[in-house]
Formats: sequence, C-alpha cells, structure tokens
Amino acid sequence: MKKQTPISPTAAAGRCTLVGAGPGDPELLTLKAVKAIRAATVLLVDDLVNERILSEHARPDARIVHVGKRGGCKSTPQAFIERLMITAVREGETVVRLKGGDPFIFGRGGEEVEHLREAGIECTVVNGVTAGLAAVTSLGVPLTHRDHAQGVVFVTGHAKTGAGAHEDATDWRALAATAHSARLTLVIYMGVAGAAHIERELLHGLPGDTPVAVVQHASLPQQRHVVATLGRLQAAIAEAGLASPAVIVVGDVLQGLAAASVDAGAGRFGT
Ligand code: SAH
Repeated sequence: MKKQTPISPTAAAGRCTLVGAGPGDPELLTLKAVKAIRAATVLLVDDLVNERILSEHARPDARIVHVGKRGGCKSTPQAFIERLMITAVREGETVVRLKGGDPFIFGRGGEEVEHLREAGIECTVVNGVTAGLAAVTSLGVPLTHRDHAQGVVFVTGHAKTGAGAHEDATDWRALAATAHSARLTLVIYMGVAGAAHIERELLHGLPGDTPVAVVQHASLPQQRHVVATLGRLQAAIAEAGLASPAVIVVGDVLQGLAAASVDAGAGRFGT
C-alpha cells in the first residue's frame, strides 16, 4: 500500500466520487449512487454502465464522457482518465466516476483513488452491487450456504500481465485445492476467454462433476446462463455461445440447478 498523501494547500475546489453503478439493472443502484449521479456536473462513465442510469438520473447539463472500450473505440488509457478527473475537480466540477458493479471489485477503482490522493484530491466511494453477487442471486442460489459453502472467493480470470507480473498470475491449482478443502464458492470475473485454461487448471484440485454456472449480462433483460459441470465448462460456454461480460461460478451451492439450461432469467429472484 502506498502511503496516503496529505491534501495539499492547493487542493481541489471541486469534488470527486467513485460510484458503483451495479451490474446493469438500474433498480440495483443504491440511493447514495443516485444522489451522487444527480449532483454530478461531470460524469466519466465505463462501458458496462447501463445508459438508462444516465438518462434517468444525470442532470441534462452534465458533461458525460464515455471512457470504455466498447462501441468500436479503444479503451481510454487509464492515465488519461485520471488526468481528466483531476483537471475537472481542480476546475471546481462535481465529478462522478461511474463504474460497473462495485468500484473496488476489479475495474481499477483502487488505482484511481491512489492517483487522486497523490494529486491531493480525496475521493469518496459509493458501493455498488457487484456482478458476481447479482449473477448468482439471479439463479436463485446463495453464494454461501451452511451445507455447501463456508465462504466465497471473487477472482479475476484475467490477471495483470507484463512487467512485474507472471503470465498467469493466478495459481488456479492452489485455489482449486483450497476451494475443495475449505468448501468455498469461486466467482470468476473476466474468465470466459480463458475458460479452457481455467477448467484444466481447476481440475487439478476439484472434481470434474463440481457444478459450474456461467451467467452473461446478469440482472439485465438479455441475461443468459448455462449450468454444467467443471469438466464441461469450456464446452458448455461454446455450446451456449456465451461471451463477455459474464461470470463463471464454481461450487456446490449450484447443486440442484438443472444442468445445461440456457435462459433469459433476469429478475426472477430479485435482481
Ligand atoms: N467492478 C465490476 C467488475 C469489473 S470487471 C463489478 O463489481 O461487477 C468486468 C467483468 O465483470 C466482466 O468481464 C464480467 O466478468 C463481470 N461483469 C460485469 N457486469 C456483468 C454482468 N452484468 N453480468 C455478468 N458479468 C458481468
């Protein structure tokens, strides 16, 4: 952890809030998130944020900057996003950085807060419902259960690569062994592209008949999912034609779900 930089005397006139927009369904926004979005004069928005959230809550005169990588554009470099935030705060704007799910579950929220602090800007953070939580809930199963899972691990299937990082920074075999012995549910974000590798590695520590589910577009009307076993993870994803954004869930909490069902199932269980 970097040391916190104290706010300098030249510190910003404006404000900055990192806001979790939830998994997609606008009704899963927190009241605090709605309040922050309504107050914003500048919004920097990630690509997984539902447009309806902006049309329903942003001020008509707010400046909205899309910084995501969908829609044919390349993702805005992280350093550029952070510079934009710092400049806008210094100009006295009320800045909201709107991120999918929860700002501190993947999605680089932690880095943004650190860089703002280094620039002398304190940032408030508003939690959002993380995609993994919404995905599992939409199937009507819990992440933990006294009979099946004593805990849950949120893990990225796409760990940082390049300088200072291993090609595959996640030790899937160790994770599988721990999940098996400690009875943990695994919730894997950004894992669909690497599913074949993840399946192969997890099979070193978990039985092939461990239930898995893959949920795409959780909480949205176009939600689809597939239920299978770990030994068929990649095959099931390919057969169902599922792609990002999706989470992979592994564990006995999924026992009892009908295998290989692919459905639009959003909203059935309160997401
Ligand atoms: N901060 C976000 C995660 C950002 S990483 C959160 O807390 O949810 C982006 C990944 O999140 C995607 O690749 C996918 O794995 C997952 N994700 C985001 N929205 C999703 C959704 N509606 N349904 C399924 N997975 C989703």
